[in-house]
Amino acid sequence: MGKIIAIANQKGGVGKTTSAINLAASLAVLEKRTLLVDADPQANSTSGLGLNPKDVTQGIYECMVDGVDPKDAVVKNDLKYLDVLPSHIDLVGAEVEMVSIERREEKMRDALGRVRDDYDFIIIDCSPSLGLITINALTAADSIIIPVQCEYFALEGLGKLLNTIKIIQTRLNPKLEIEGILLTLYDSRTSLGNQVVEEVRTHFQKMTFNTIIPRNVKLSESPSFGLPAIVHDAESKGAISYLNLAHEVLDKNGMSK
Ligand code: ADP
Ligand code: MG
Repeated sequence: MGKIIAIANQKGGVGKTTSAINLAASLAVLEKRTLLVDADPQANSTSGLGLNPKDVTQGIYECMVDGVDPKDAVVKNDLKYLDVLPSHIDLVGAEVEMVSIERREEKMRDALGRVRDDYDFIIIDCSPSLGLITINALTAADSIIIPVQCEYFALEGLGKLLNTIKIIQTRLNPKLEIEGILLTLYDSRTSLGNQVVEEVRTHFQKMTFNTIIPRNVKLSESPSFGLPAIVHDAESKGAISYLNLAHEVLDKNGMSK
């Protein structure tokens, strides 16, 4: 049964989508059967892997709201071990449509439950909000990776997120764990970057991944080619850092290779 990891932080621009795409691709390169679920109506993971959200007729939205089987909605990637469950703008409507249905927080768990056995990992890219779709993702997930950018106000909002996680653990998903805090957009040339690394490690030492993701142009340009960095430029610092993260995740889960 595959492990479900949500990548979440209600702050925008912290590297959720970049981390979701590149962690998923790295796990796939390491021959772990991986599904990337795009749970953001902005569909950046979808387009970042070369799919046009406008062409998506069946995605996570239809799986949650219309009961479509994710097996019929997944799209294969050129990487042999990677599949994508895409998103499109209608996912915005899902928040409203789902308000009145029963067990509305558990629709993603139900949907992903149908394909869990087909994968080693299911990675969910969340939107920058703590709305119903993100609650669904955290209810479906076994663990959460929280990207934190090495910038001013890095820790802003983290308290609220940790509080939301506690509420979800109490009410909806007692098994939800924190896989780790991931430091992103690190620039070794600035003292600020180093200060943030210190601060996060001081407050959350046990929870923080050893791997730090550097600010790297290959990571920001590869989505425009519709490719993960490891395919676009496998030698780049960005690609290597996400491969290291994938190894760290495998180690943590007793699956190292
Ligand atoms: P989020 O999904 O949290 O909003 P993104 O992953 O989309 O964040 O990142 C925000 C922007 O920063 C994007 O333009 C992305 O390409 C860029 N970016 C993210 N991580 C890096 C990185 N490590 N190096 C360079 N650019 C990055
Ligand atoms: Mg995003």
